[in-house]
Amino acid sequence: MDLHGIGVGRGVAVGQVIRMPDPLPEPEDSGYSGDASAEKARVREALAAVAADYQARGEKAGGAARDVLEAAALMAQDPTLIDDVDSRIDSSKSGERAVFEAFTSFQEILIGMGGLMAERATDLGDVSQRIIAHLRGVPAPGVPTSDEPFVLVAPDLAPADTALLDLNKVLGLVTRDGGPTSHTAILARAKSIPAIVGVTGALDLTDGTVVIVDAATGTVHVSPSEAEIAEARQRIADRASAAVAPITDGALADGTKIPLLANLGSPKDAAAAVELGAEGVGLFRTEFLFLDSKSAPTVEEQRVQYAELLAHFPGKKVVVRALDAGADKPLSFLNSAHEENPALGLRGLRALRASEQILRDQLTALAQADAETEAELWVMAPMVSDSEETEYFVSLGRELGLAIVGVMAEVPSLAVLADQVLQTADFVSIGTNDLTQYTLAADRMLGSVAHFQDPWHPAVLRLVKLIGDAGAATGKPVGICGEAAADPQLAVVLVGLGATTLSMTPAALADVRAELAKYTLDQARELAAKAITARTAADARALGSGSQLQS
Ligand code: PEP
Ligand code: MG
Repeated sequence: MDLHGIGVGRGVAVGQVIRMPDPLPEPEDSGYSGDASAEKARVREALAAVAADYQARGEKAGGAARDVLEAAALMAQDPTLIDDVDSRIDSSKSGERAVFEAFTSFQEILIGMGGLMAERATDLGDVSQRIIAHLRGVPAPGVPTSDEPFVLVAPDLAPADTALLDLNKVLGLVTRDGGPTSHTAILARAKSIPAIVGVTGALDLTDGTVVIVDAATGTVHVSPSEAEIAEARQRIADRASAAVAPITDGALADGTKIPLLANLGSPKDAAAAVELGAEGVGLFRTEFLFLDSKSAPTVEEQRVQYAELLAHFPGKKVVVRALDAGADKPLSFLNSAHEENPALGLRGLRALRASEQILRDQLTALAQADAETEAELWVMAPMVSDSEETEYFVSLGRELGLAIVGVMAEVPSLAVLADQVLQTADFVSIGTNDLTQYTLAADRMLGSVAHFQDPWHPAVLRLVKLIGDAGAATGKPVGICGEAAADPQLAVVLVGLGATTLSMTPAALADVRAELAKYTLDQARELAAKAITARTAADARALGSGSQLQS
């Protein structure tokens, strides 16, 4: 029997299941007749202790985990929540019950907001469980321990759990809830733990059952045969040797260079990317720097950040994207109006054009950072629809001193019009996450339509081909910077469709490098030609696999 979900990364794990212990029972609503101010003080003490515990765990974990745990510490001290808890104690609730109710109602609000906000609801649930455990004087529910390595199965994982997983013991993760951007997914990716999230039926797995977690296909094979286990172990060994193989520049078997670049969201991540062999940056998501800013960043604030990034890549290409505000990444200084469908609203270049001074400041800061560093700066706009928008962005970039200016292909209209767009743009970079979302009309944040969110879909591949063909006709570069570039097999097909560079989360570089080296350009084109004849994403995956080659 197989279970299916959304795979995170490309890893494979084989092991026995251990289930996460059940959460604490809901505190009873039996009324409270004690001293309300003493009860509030008791809750305050628990909140402070839990926040301090998160901070300490964050410091111990470091990296991406620290940010997540610090955010959880802030939730435990959130003044609105504390007010809510207080007023519930005033209406005769015990501290435990007041915490439970206040956090649950806030969780419901977040779930109602959908997208990234809904995914943070799990984090809030963890904070409340820890506070209640503290108030009761019992241990907080958490990751089980075992002498033998195991595959952890849980409804979802809270940041405190994921951040502190013992990598020597947890072989893989399977969760019932969570989307591709949940904290479980983010941290599993950062720690390179094979994970599958959003698995229906995950909680029917019982302790001790042997499973193969295949993140590449999003499949949990339950009780596999000896032969299947042997095959999975071989794949684990192959990945391990790819990871330690010498780092070379990305290239096909015939020597065709395919530069492998990094997707980054902060200059702080640059050094680690270089270490993993990133030949430059293919997507720097500038909006990540300003998600919490209430007002637009100044030219000077931005210059410092961009110069710090560029300084890591002397002589190398660094593609910086103008602020992509809107939808799941709203910036309060760019997106103020309420929109029913923000992914289809004033997002990306549309929002920047509506606040042109913010765009001018950003491009000015980039030009200044470029002038003081040795990297080769490329700048691109997100969410561009056609050649008119392209001309607007390119001419503004040139006016403000930028040498290489391009656009992202995320909206299907731009792909269809790629020949016109490339008359003006210096390059196109394909954002397959949004291109897939918009082509299949499937919200990328929504678990219920996740099966439509597959960049292997032949409709997406055909759009990539249109752009690849336009790039070849004009002699201009066509990069890929969506998650699709991190899928080794798909990376080969994308090259066959005309991609000239691939940019991805740095943890994926080794696998993609190893896979590209197995194929010549002719073979990549042969696989691409087969994949675009498919009727479904699953067919395309089968047709685009190496076993389909003639020779
Ligand atoms: C994309 O849409 O593929 C992309 C790279 O941009 P983001 O994921 O930041 O929307
Ligand atoms: Mg995008």
